[in-house]
Amino acid sequence: MIRFFLPDRREASVFSMDFKREYERGVRGIIFDIDNTLVPQDAPVDEKVRRLFDDLKRDGLSTCLISNNGEGRVREFAEQLGSHFVPNAAKPSRKAYRKAMEVMGTNESDTLFIGDQLLTDIFGAKRTGIESILVDPVDPASDLKRIRFKRKIERFILRRGKEKPSSEEKGLEKI
Ligand SMILES: [Mg+2]
Repeated sequence: MIRFFLPDRREASVFSMDFKREYERGVRGIIFDIDNTLVPQDAPVDEKVRRLFDDLKRDGLSTCLISNNGEGRVREFAEQLGSHFVPNAAKPSRKAYRKAMEVMGTNESDTLFIGDQLLTDIFGAKRTGIESILVDPVDPASDLKRIRFKRKIERFILRRGKEKPSSEEKGLEKI
């Protein structure tokens, strides 16, 4: 059931996305992963991220950062951006995604999730029923060792996802 791990869309980077367009098509809240989605693993807030969040606010979009990283890291990062946040998210658990929508006052149909990992980020968003976007890691060299291993599995899934769906999956699409 490979499609449960596949994002709805892929983008090179959050910094090249047109968030005004997302707003125009009805998006009101965006949930972001932090590490290697906004900045390299464990890196602090930088000017680019600050500008991005200022723009999002100006465009009328609510934001929430959800991270499997601990409270200290996540709180400090989010507070500098004036964003909601959920630390210790235990993605792919649905809990943090639901909490994020609750604090933003949004729901499954007007929320967008953006992250860099299939097995945690995207899988969790799919399970929760939120549209998901996979971005390329900001700095793959900063990945933790355990994440580097997972990237191999992710590359395999993405390759398989590009192939035609199997007849079994085609049948399921109709249900
Ligand atoms: Mg990440």
